[in-house]
Amino acid sequence: MKIEGRVFLVTGGGSGLGAAVSRMVVDNGGRVVLVDINADAGAAMAAELGDAARFQRADVSNEADGKAAIQLALDSFGHVHGLVNCAGVAPGEKVVGRDGPHRLESFVRGITVNLIGTFNMLRLAADAMVKEEPDGEGERGVIVNTASVAAFDGQIGQAAYAASKGGVAALTLPVARELARFGIRVVTIAPGIFETPMMAGLPQDVQDSLGKSVPFPSRLGRPSEYAALVKHICENNMLNGEVIRLDGALRMAP
Ligand code: NAD
Repeated sequence: MKIEGRVFLVTGGGSGLGAAVSRMVVDNGGRVVLVDINADAGAAMAAELGDAARFQRADVSNEADGKAAIQLALDSFGHVHGLVNCAGVAPGEKVVGRDGPHRLESFVRGITVNLIGTFNMLRLAADAMVKEEPDGEGERGVIVNTASVAAFDGQIGQAAYAASKGGVAALTLPVARELARFGIRVVTIAPGIFETPMMAGLPQDVQDSLGKSVPFPSRLGRPSEYAALVKHICENNMLNGEVIRLDGALRMAP
């Protein structure tokens, strides 16, 4: 699927990877609805991208919010051809910490935003995509999810995050198989460590040493590199049902 002329929803579009994907869509002649719980960041990014972008404030794990985002795409641009799920949170907490056991709320929050939020947007977008006219190859839409290498190499303190991202990785194949007959593809990217506001909270020396731990190119990933893979996934119809690591061969030591 070419991006030119197509309509995308990008969750987490106000920041980091989602902002880079939104920019890539507009740069390639597509139109985009940025979906984010952070109204200031989302509205500012949409304004920066101009006429081809809209913003919907939404909690991706909320059904009514998700429906409102789909409706804005239909009302503004008449279609939904693509969904890129980038919204996410990174709850970090040990199972047994100094202050007691892992708070159940923080585990539920990780699962709610990262896994249920991804599935909520995916099912609503797919429901809209099946109503699209298929292109010459029978394709109606593309869904790209964001997992993490934590799905496979979870570190201490990442139980909630790893479980949520493992769920995103696991749903990829069954959903891709189910939606194939409608000409909708589903692919998940598992990023390593990227330079985004999510990582900016870490001290600089920790960021530097994380970058050095990447075998090649020995630095943190750039959001534009993530967006470039999303573009490739959209344009390559043979890519379907796959979880792709984008991590510079990073394998975290326990
Ligand atoms: P980020 O914090 O810069 O952006 C995440 C965005 O999601 C924010 O704008 C935030 O407001 C939004 N968001 C959070 N909860 C939401 C909700 N309930 N509804 C709607 N929007 C919500 O982070 P990022 O680094 O760009 O991360 C993007 C995705 O990539 C996340 O799913 C993250 O887990 C994943 N990821 C990031 C890295 C990394 O190194 N940066 C690595 C692996 C995976």
